Order: sequence, then C-alpha cells, then structure tokens
Amino acid sequence: MNSKKFHLKNFGCQMNKLDSGLLFNALSSRGYVHTDKAGEADVIIINTCSVRQHAEDRVLSHLGHIKHLKKTHPALLVAVIGCMAQRLVRNICQNCKAQFKPDYDEITALGLAGYIARDQMLWKGRGCDHCRQTGYYGRTGIFEILPYDTEVKEAIRRNVDLADLRSLVRRKGVRSLMDDGMERVIRGVTTYEEVLRVAGGSID
Ligand SMILES: [Zn+2]
Repeated sequence: MNSKKFHLKNFGCQMNKLDSGLLFNALSSRGYVHTDKAGEADVIIINTCSVRQHAEDRVLSHLGHIKHLKKTHPALLVAVIGCMAQRLVRNICQNCKAQFKPDYDEITALGLAGYIARDQMLWKGRGCDHCRQTGYYGRTGIFEILPYDTEVKEAIRRNVDLADLRSLVRRKGVRSLMDDGMERVIRGVTTYEEVLRVAGGSID
C-alpha cells in the first residue's frame, strides 16, 4: 500500500518555519511522505503566522486556491494551524503623557471617524528627558487573530465560497489590526499616528 502524502504550505516568519519542521517530522514518523504538489496530497496543511495586515485574508485566499482540489479529491484533509498578525506600536511616555482634543477634520480625513468620536479626548507625550523628547517610551503589540474554531473548520469542510467564509469570519467579530490599535488609542496607550504607521494599509 502506498504511503499517504502530505503537502505543507508555510508562509510567514521564521517562527512558523520551525513549527513546520516539527510537523514535517511528526508526520514523517507516522509514515506520511511529503510532496511538493498539493494536487497529489492526501493532507494539506497550511501554517501561517502573517506579520502583515489581514492575516485571515491570506489564509482564506489560500484556502480558495485549494478549493478545487477538494472537489476532485473529496477525502482530502485540509488543516490550518493558527493565523495571527501582529505589529508593534510605541507606547505614549507615561512621564509626559497629556490629554488633548484632536482636530476632527484631520481625524475624518485620516478615515478614523469610525473610531474616534467628535468630542473624544486623546493622549500624547509632550516629550521629556525620560523619553528623550520623543513622547514615546516602550512598545506594545497589536493583534489580529483568526479564530480557527469548529464553525470555521466546518465551513471549510463544507467547501463554502470564499466570500461566505470571509463574511463568517467577520461575523465572528474578528477584529482587524486597526480595530485593536484604535482601541489602544482611545485607552491612551498609544497614538493614532502610531497605529496608522504600522496598520494603515488594513483599513477596509
Ligand atoms: Zn516623556
């Protein structure tokens, strides 16, 4: 009997190359043979940990690519191992932090009116010796995570349209990098300039 074949698709950072290596060894030790051709595989594993915006878009569009394989090969197993995007933003310096009222025309022009109310007070660092006059001290991560749960797995197993899969993920309340970052702006952790700098491309 022929060995089962697996195809391991890795995209992302060094860390998940290590994870892929572990999976590769685990499957090999169970008698699976790796193939470079997704079309011949019995199992397709997608390992992703994108550091760009819209982490879930990357994995969902890849699932779209392999959808036709599932049609011609219904027994094919497709697995996704996590999906998270992360960016680092600078924290407002706690030593010189001060409230200010942002210019709402600017907020609107930047496309942030959905996040910041007209009378919302925000915070920024005035600059001090502690932060070397930058107004920032330390960093914090903002995240976007695809919950690869039973409902998402079931949708993939049922081979739903990519558009339906996207709307399912949105309905599940997946927050984008912008959503997560702007919440930290409202809480006075960082500034909208910082969030736009690292996640600006992710505005829908
Ligand atoms: Zn400071």
